Amino acid sequence: MSERIVLLFATRNAGKVAELVELTRGLPIEVRSLEGYDVPEVEEDGDTFESNAAKKAREVSAATGLPALADDSGLEVDALDGAPGVYSARYAGEDADDEANNEKLIEALLGVVEADRTARFRSTLALADVGGALGDDVILASGSCEGQILTERQGTGGFGYDPLFYSPELGQTFAEAGVGSKNQLSHRAQAMKLLLPELKHYFHL
Ligand code: IMP
Repeated sequence: MSERIVLLFATRNAGKVAELVELTRGLPIEVRSLEGYDVPEVEEDGDTFESNAAKKAREVSAATGLPALADDSGLEVDALDGAPGVYSARYAGEDADDEANNEKLIEALLGVVEADRTARFRSTLALADVGGALGDDVILASGSCEGQILTERQGTGGFGYDPLFYSPELGQTFAEAGVGSKNQLSHRAQAMKLLLPELKHYFHL
C-alpha cells in the first residue's frame, strides 16, 4: 500500500505519547498527537480499561475522521483490593494531579509491609477507524506488568505513579528507568506487542 497512513494518539498525556511514539517507531505510518486537533474531552465513564479505551479511540476517530489509537491504563494495588484501577487518574479527586495521587497512595499504604505491597499496571490499547473499514468495531489488546509500591518516591522521570512503582525485573522504579527500559516490559509495551500484528494487518503494512 503506497498511501501514507496517519494515526492519531488519542491522549493528552505527554508521558503516554512519548512511550507510544517509541513503541510504534519504525512503522511506515505518521503518528500524531492530539495537539492541534479540536477534539472534545472524552468522559471516561466505563468500568473497565477495555470499555474506556474503546470509547476514547472511537470518539477521537469520529471527531477527526482519522484512525485513532487510545490507551486506557491504571494501577491495581493488591492491598487496596485492586484500587485505584480505572480511577487511577482521579484517585485523589476529579482534578487530581500526579503529585496528589501519589501522596494519597503513600498514605493509603502506610503500615503495609513490603511483602504485601504488590501491584500491577494494566493497559488496554484500542484502535478505531470509524470512517474506515473498522466502522464501529475496535481492535483491542491488553497488557500488564507486576511490581511493588514503595513507601516513598524514587526517581524523577516518567509520569503518574512511576516514582512509586518498583519493577523487580529492572531493579529500579519506572521513574528511574528511561522510556527505553520501561518500554522493554511495561504494561503498555506488552499491549502494543499484541496489537502490532493486528495493526499491520489492518493497514496492510
Ligand atoms: P487514563 O488516562 O485514564 O488511562 O489514566 C491512566 C492513569 O493511570 C494515569 O493518569 C496514571 O496515573 C496511571 N498510569 C497509567 N499508566 C501509567 C504508567 O505507565 N506509569 C505511571 N502511571 C500510569
